[in-house]
Amino acid sequence: MKKHNFSAGPCILPQEVLKKASEAILNFNNDNLSLIEISHRSKPVVDVMNKAQQLVLELLGLENKGYKALFLHGGASLEFLMTPYNLLPIDGKAAYLDTGTWSAKAIKEAKLLGNIEIVASSKDKNYSYIPTDYTVPDDAAYFHCTSNNTIYGTQMKSFPNAKGYRVCDMSSDIFSRQLDFSSFDLIYAGAQKNMGPAGVTLVVIKEEILGKTGRSIPSMLDYKLHIDKESMFNTPPVFALYVSMLTLEWLKNLGGIPAIEKINQTKAAMLYDEIDNNPLFEGVAVKSDRSMMNATFTLTDLTLTDKFDKLCEQAGINGLKGHRSVGGYRASMYNALPLESVEVLVNVMKNLKK
Ligand SMILES: *Cc1c(COP(=O)(O)O)cnc(C)c1O
Repeated sequence: MKKHNFSAGPCILPQEVLKKASEAILNFNNDNLSLIEISHRSKPVVDVMNKAQQLVLELLGLENKGYKALFLHGGASLEFLMTPYNLLPIDGKAAYLDTGTWSAKAIKEAKLLGNIEIVASSKDKNYSYIPTDYTVPDDAAYFHCTSNNTIYGTQMKSFPNAKGYRVCDMSSDIFSRQLDFSSFDLIYAGAQKNMGPAGVTLVVIKEEILGKTGRSIPSMLDYKLHIDKESMFNTPPVFALYVSMLTLEWLKNLGGIPAIEKINQTKAAMLYDEIDNNPLFEGVAVKSDRSMMNATFTLTDLTLTDKFDKLCEQAGINGLKGHRSVGGYRASMYNALPLESVEVLVNVMKNLKK
C-alpha cells in the first residue's frame, strides 16, 4: 500500500498522474517511442508544452490578459536572480518582504544587481509570523514576496498595495487557493511543491513589463527571449513538463482551484484542530498566519518523540520531520494529498494521547 506522503518537496503527486507518466516513459502516444527519447521539437512534445501553458493560464484565470506561461530550468532559486535581471532598472530600487529562508535567498540574489529595500522581516521570531506593519515605497520598481513559507508554515492571506510591479514566489501554494492572480505581474514556482516533479520551474509573466531596465541580460536569464522562443530556447525538461501537464489536467478535471481549495481547507482545518485540542501538540506559526499547505508543530513533551515517531512509521506516514531550522514536525498537505492521509495522521495524534 502507498504511504501517506507528507513530504514538503518534492511532493506527493496524484496516483493516476504517476501511472500515466510511467506509461509515457515506455510508449508515448502509442507511437512506440518513449516521451524522453524524442525531439522536443516534434509535434507531440510541442503539443505538451502548449497544453501545459494553456492549462496554467486557464486555471489561474489569466487567459487573454497579456500573460505568458514559461517552463524553465534552474528551479525557483534561479528566479531569485532572473527577477531583478528582468525588472530592476540599472539605477532603480526594489522592495522585498522577508518572511523566511526563501525570501532571504531571493533578497541575497537581488542585492547583486542593485538597491534592495527590505520593507519588513519576521526573522526576529524565527519567521513564525507574517509582518503587516509596513508600506511598499512608491519608488520601488517592484515588490517581491513569498506567498507561502514552506519551512515555517506561514502563508500570506493578503498582499499589500504596490505602485510598482508585484512579484510573488508561489512555489509552495500555487494552484492551491483562489487569489486574484491578475494582481501580480510575475509569479514563479518550482514545480516540485504543488505541481509536478523537480526539474521544471513555472513562470507566469505579464509580457508588457519586460524590456524596461536598460540592462543586457544573459540569454538564459532573459524572459523576453524565452517568450519569443515559446519556452523552447533550449531543450526543455520534457519529462518534468509532461508530469506537470498531467497534474494540471488532473486539477482541471477535479474542478480547478475553487474545488481543490475547499478540499485543502478541510484537510488543514482537520489537522490544526487536532494540534489545538490535543495537549501533547503545539503549533509553531502564529495562528492567523498559518499555512494551509505546510503545518508546523511540535510535541509539548519531547520525551514522547520516539513513541510518536514509531506510531507514525507504523501508520505508514512519510516525510513528517520538520525542517532543520525549525525542528519538530511539518505536515505538508499539497493538492494531491488525500484527506484520508490527514485522518490517519490525526488518529495517530489521538492515539498518542491515549
Ligand atoms: C522550495 C522553494 C524554493 C526553491 O525551489 P527550487 O526549485 O529548489 O529552487 C523557493 N521558494 C519556495 C517558497 C520554496 O518552497
